Parts: sequence; structure tokens; C-alpha cells
Amino acid sequence: MKLIVGNWKMYKTGEEAEAYLHALLPLVAKAASRIYLAVPFTAISKAVSIVKDSKIVIGAQNMHDVSEGAFTGEIAAKMLVEAGAKFVILGHSERRRYFHEDNAFINKKVKRAIESQIQPLLCIGETLEERTAGKTEEILKRQLTECLAGLNAQQLATLIVAYEPVWAIGTDQVATPETAQTAQAFCRKQLQELFGEEVAKHTPILYGGSVKPENAKELLSQHDIDGLLVGGASLSVNAFSQIVNIEETNL
Ligand code: PEP
Repeated sequence: MKLIVGNWKMYKTGEEAEAYLHALLPLVAKAASRIYLAVPFTAISKAVSIVKDSKIVIGAQNMHDVSEGAFTGEIAAKMLVEAGAKFVILGHSERRRYFHEDNAFINKKVKRAIESQIQPLLCIGETLEERTAGKTEEILKRQLTECLAGLNAQQLATLIVAYEPVWAIGTDQVATPETAQTAQAFCRKQLQELFGEEVAKHTPILYGGSVKPENAKELLSQHDIDGLLVGGASLSVNAFSQIVNIEETNL
């Protein structure tokens, strides 16, 4: 079963989230895919109560690594848990780029999420410069090794990885299915080398970067693409529901 994750980024007030979810629910009621939505912090509680009898799972887009403290403007894992978030996106390239998050910091967040029983969705991916320089595999290997350092197979039972080439995010430059497949097969091999066969087999590896209803089917048909992380297109009920229903109708 494929996993389709929407990332709303810094879009949608609580009121807008409410209207979106009421429109989405009937359209995805029969979908075969698992559906996750990473919404803004202020919409989490409301979203959780609206989707409570459905298959939609609500999560967050970021959190801090310490349990509480003097970190003005930050949010702690236990606050997300209290709001009803079941998963959290960590290491998104926008966090790395605009807020200077590095692998060591992301590693601490992954550990805190696991300890707090929030499912971590770890984003990795190379920049265009790194790809052009032939460094894609080196970068992916380093991100996986450093972001998951100090964790064992048991702790990683709920891990989700998203391969998101930075050059494909929000650019309309979707990776070809072959490019994504090659990178994701490499990620799976790395997971196997680092944590063994079970983790490699059970960890969903998603593709993210300019996914649209028109390109989702071909991406989802690749062997190592277990689902999709959808940014811009997840803001539209119509586009997101089409992507979610692809598995049912076309694969
Ligand atoms: C994302 O936000 O993770 C993403 C992939 O965005 P987009 O689909 O807009 O490229």
C-alpha cells in the first residue's frame, strides 16, 4: 500500500484547513493509499478532530530536539503529541536552507521524535550543484548516516524516509521516474548496510519534488518508490485527492 503525504508548508489557517478537510474526506474515503497530512502547528488540533473517523493521519512539519526550554518560537515533541500529531517531517530542505539545520541537529530531532512516539519522516536529497558534480550518492549516504546516527533497527521501526532532490522541490522540475528510482534504490541499500535487511525492507521511501496528478502514476510504479511527499499540489483538494486515488484506479 502506497503512502501519500501532503506538506502544506506555511499555508492554511485553521478555517481554511477545516474547509479543505471537509471537501477532501468524501473524495478519499475509498482510497487504497495511506494518507498523511503535515499541517501548520495552529491547525493540528482542529484537523485531528475533523479527520478522527477517517484514514487521514495528521502530523507536523518540524519540531525542536529538546523536551522543553528557553527556545523562543520553537515547539516541543510533547506539545505536538498533545495536539494530536502522529508524525513529524524532519530535515526538510527548506529547514536546512533557510534555518541552517544540519545533519547533527536533525539527528537529535529524530531521536527525540522516536522517544516521544511521534513517527519521524526524514527528508534527504542533493542540490543541483551536488548532482552536477556527481556527488548525489555521497550526499545521500552522508545524510542517512549522520541523521540516523546512534539509532538501532528497533528504534527505526516507524521511520519514513523521503528522497527529495532539492532541485525538484517547488520548481516544476520533477525527477524522471528512473532518476528517482536509482536514488531510492541507493537509499534502500544504504539502510540495509547501516541497519540490516528488516529496516531496508520495512522503511517506506517516498519521492518528493514537484509531484502532480499528471506525473504521480509513473513515479508510483517504480519499485523503490513506496509513496510520495507532495508540497504545492497538496494545497488543492482536487489535485491531492487525484494523487491519493491513483493507486486505486491505475497501478
Ligand atoms: C515538499 O514540500 O516537500 C515538496 C516536495 O514540495 P513540491 O511538491 O511543491 O515540490
